Amino acid sequence: MIKPETIQQIFETVRIEEVIGDFVSLRKRGSNYLGLCPFHNEKTPSFSVSPSKGIYKCFGCGKAGNAINFVMEHEHYSYPEALRFVAKRYSIDIEETEVTPEMRQELDERESMFTLNGFIAKYMSSNLLSSDEGKAIALSYLKERDFREATIEKFELGYAIDNWQDYSDHALKNGYKKEILVKTGLSIQKENDKGLIDRFRGRVIFPIHNLTGKVIGFGGRILTSEKKAAKYLNSPESEIYNKSKVLYGIFFARNAIVKNDNCYLVEGYTDVISMHQAGIENVVASSGTSLTVDQIRLIKRYTPNITILFDGDPAGIKASFRGIDLILEQGMNVKIVLFPEGQDPDSYVRSHRSSETEEFIKNQAADFITFKTRLMLDETAGDPTAKASLIKEIVQTISVIPDGITRTVYVKECSVVMEVPEQTLMNELNKIFRKRFRKGADRPREFVEDTVVQLPPKEQIEFDPLTMKGHEADLLRILLSYGEQTFLMEIEEDELEKYEDKEIEVRVADYLIDDFKHEQIQFENEMYNKILNEYISIWEEGKLPPNNHFINHNDPQIVNTVIDLLSSAYQLSDNWETNKIFVKTEEDQLKLVVMSAWMSFKSRMINKQLKEITEELKKSGNEEADIYLLQQQYFELKKIANQIDKELKRTFTY
Ligand SMILES: [Zn+2]
Repeated sequence: MIKPETIQQIFETVRIEEVIGDFVSLRKRGSNYLGLCPFHNEKTPSFSVSPSKGIYKCFGCGKAGNAINFVMEHEHYSYPEALRFVAKRYSIDIEETEVTPEMRQELDERESMFTLNGFIAKYMSSNLLSSDEGKAIALSYLKERDFREATIEKFELGYAIDNWQDYSDHALKNGYKKEILVKTGLSIQKENDKGLIDRFRGRVIFPIHNLTGKVIGFGGRILTSEKKAAKYLNSPESEIYNKSKVLYGIFFARNAIVKNDNCYLVEGYTDVISMHQAGIENVVASSGTSLTVDQIRLIKRYTPNITILFDGDPAGIKASFRGIDLILEQGMNVKIVLFPEGQDPDSYVRSHRSSETEEFIKNQAADFITFKTRLMLDETAGDPTAKASLIKEIVQTISVIPDGITRTVYVKECSVVMEVPEQTLMNELNKIFRKRFRKGADRPREFVEDTVVQLPPKEQIEFDPLTMKGHEADLLRILLSYGEQTFLMEIEEDELEKYEDKEIEVRVADYLIDDFKHEQIQFENEMYNKILNEYISIWEEGKLPPNNHFINHNDPQIVNTVIDLLSSAYQLSDNWETNKIFVKTEEDQLKLVVMSAWMSFKSRMINKQLKEITEELKKSGNEEADIYLLQQQYFELKKIANQIDKELKRTFTY
């Protein structure tokens, strides 16, 4: 269990724009940040982050929350997992009660798998760096590849001892459970007895980290020339390791990807590590699988630009063309860099200075479609049939690009490269689209997407179209947003002699809560009441709840309610800002906002009571005395209602 003090420290330290900025590329806009929503597919940013409120909100799909909610939603983490992640991000030491063997049992399975993987990674790393076998076989191999010790430690490289029951035994001895060893794929259950054997033996180990730096699986490279064994062996898929959703190196690369607004995609673990060591850190590898849509989306969270680094093997390049179409389909920009024959990124970076490698990549990077066209054109030289099918294939590739303008640019470009009239390509493109429309299912995405992101129309201040809940929401929102601010209020005539000035400074919270208490008002909405009462109890201690008190509340329902309340107004002011409409903000006219919300609420409440009394009076069978009492109440209320209405009109007509 994480101690409450630690949780508080996390909430005090966390800056939402930084946490979200690790996953989404954000641009500053006014006092907020704007980016592409990671929760739905969009081309126009409608995902907004407010540092001052500590919340995010997507105007496209409606998702909203605080920094911890974001991590939970985005990474599919539990609450404690999200807290731990954010704590790690800010190097906050998590204080928790010691993990005893009994408590370890209680930790959920996922958590146990992560813990075990971390434990094994550490063990393998110590094998590599300090066991005789590890040093002699594996460390020497890595040093030969010019891997520095700091790099080895950073990527947590390790060595699995060449023994059937080495780390399995070690883990069991340290209290890790057999089921978890099998579930992570680290150990294999022997068929005839209950013992475990190690999956990885005599291999250099490359731990595979998820976005948050946790080890989710392992890759192992064999060093002996044993013919039967595969060169690379990977952990099998498990509850925490899904090959198609992971990119090797993403944890170490993500900040650099955002910074460079580009992601280099390479083939192997060692390519990633070598380039990283050379200071080129925006590199990931799809590690063994062909590129999947999930992996592309993972990159797209950080940048729309991918540069694929190929070693000079034409067969390998052609095999990956289909995968590249997937990248284009996601609306991303793809460039290709071809390394000289016999070289891969790993060897190139080892034999050149970092600046030379960067220079090489920059100069060689060719746009994918142009690259593909050139490469295939060479093969079709002098063969008209082959050229015709090439045209079809290239146009097919162009057709998957969601953006119309980009498609047009490519048509122009390819018509030059292939020496084919632009119109021919256009006709071919239209043919493909017509076919797709007939099929119906597979429309170009832009037609769908462009209609999604519509900011809601500007709200207008209206008097009483609101439901009771609407009034309550408005009042509570004002209390939460401006409770500590003050406005000047005129002193009523009969009280004038008590004060020196004609006006006094009133705090919004005091103004509202005084009235709430004086008139013994409760909200109808239960959730609002809960929040209001908590606010009032803090107020009664002579304090006001700190800014993020409710946003970081441990009751998730309160968090959601408050975020909804705060983001509704935030949306409004954001609109004003966006559309450059000159409107006084709420803060500029705080008194007006507070008074009118308060009076509207009361007016609505009284009208409701009046209605109830009228209903009651209509009922037959009331005692005469009761009728008299009800009438009395009615007139009292009516008087107040009239006063309020007059006041409301006065307030709004200056
Ligand atoms: Zn969204």
